[in-house]
Amino acid sequence: MPNTAPAHAKARKKSDPPPSRARLVVVEDEQDLQDLMRYHLEREGYAVTSALSGDRALKIIRAEPPDLIVLDLMLPGMDGLEVCRALKADAATAGIPIVMVTAKSEEADIVTGLELGADDYVAKPFSPRVLLARVRAVLRRRSAGGDAAEPDDADITIRNLVIRPERHEVLVQGRPVDLTATEFRLLQLLASKPGRVFPRQQIIETIHGKFAAVTDRSVDVQVVMLRRKLEEAGQDIQTVRGVGYRFRE
Ligand code: CA
Repeated sequence: MPNTAPAHAKARKKSDPPPSRARLVVVEDEQDLQDLMRYHLEREGYAVTSALSGDRALKIIRAEPPDLIVLDLMLPGMDGLEVCRALKADAATAGIPIVMVTAKSEEADIVTGLELGADDYVAKPFSPRVLLARVRAVLRRRSAGGDAAEPDDADITIRNLVIRPERHEVLVQGRPVDLTATEFRLLQLLASKPGRVFPRQQIIETIHGKFAAVTDRSVDVQVVMLRRKLEEAGQDIQTVRGVGYRFRE
């Protein structure tokens, strides 16, 4: 891996990064891929610690909780989902955002990971640009307090779309749009965290409650209806194949 770090940077202790630099832990058992991710993340200015296994990662993370974790799901021994579960079960680490790294064939695992509380994922093979964009977006959402507070009834304005929950009102380019209660809640949920992927099951639980007898398919139908009613703004509701939906950032 190319070494572009200036001498003074190497002299600084790893455990003592400047406060402005976000600290990342990268968990990936393929050394080449780990090196590649590390190279690009460090070049972007992040302080990166890496681990080749889930056990090692947990030790590093618990010793010094980072600002974000890039977590491969397919790991020998303790796999990524187990790591995710362990982190979310512990109050000291539950709030650390996680970006999962997966193979395209692991769609069920992606959904499970998102339901466990991971923030986003990149599917292998990915370009470094995609990884950096996801990391940046998740860190930005966190620093904006997007996940900490539940901005339940706050107004949302994104491009030409305005949502006013207290008035149960949606405007596209200033024109009111007539939505059903379910469509409204679906839109409010997706638009509350632009860029974040919501698995279908999570959408159902948020909108209808945990024990509702609502199928994944009905979420798809609601989305089709919602897109149609929102016209041009409907393009912002993106399908994430095999996983769920996200509102374009
Ligand atoms: Ca792996």
